[in-house]
Amino acid sequence: MTRFKSHMDTALAEASAAATRGEVPVGAVLVAPDGHVVAQAGNRTRELNDPTAHAEILVIREGCTRAGSERLPGYDLYVTLEPCPMCATAISAARIRRVYYAAADPKSGGVAQGPRIFSHPQCHHVPEVYDGIGAGEAEQILRDFFAARR
Ligand SMILES: [Zn+2]
Repeated sequence: MTRFKSHMDTALAEASAAATRGEVPVGAVLVAPDGHVVAQAGNRTRELNDPTAHAEILVIREGCTRAGSERLPGYDLYVTLEPCPMCATAISAARIRRVYYAAADPKSGGVAQGPRIFSHPQCHHVPEVYDGIGAGEAEQILRDFFAARR
């Protein structure tokens, strides 16, 4: 059995960095099959004027560019919040192996609630999904961010 190393701490650091930029604090990390981090990012929708610039999309784009491929089989993705339907669809299209997410997102999540993308019959690739790792810290970062904006 290979040793499991969580990269959620790095994703949480990206979420905090996003908050300081005034972005919704969500962070993601993409890990190659050999275990090294190939991309890490926080949301940049405001900075880039791009509604698709979610953390997951940014790391998938960078990972695909580095791999020279539209698919990332064997790659694992860590994200601090349950992916939305757009990101879940991109994760499936990229053939990501495993998704680890921290906090659940009852408002905009698309994995365990809402459209449940990975359970949909049209979903051609279903990653392994592990939730809850670092959820307390991820929820706190989100709470602090939205409390400060009220
Ligand atoms: Zn998303």
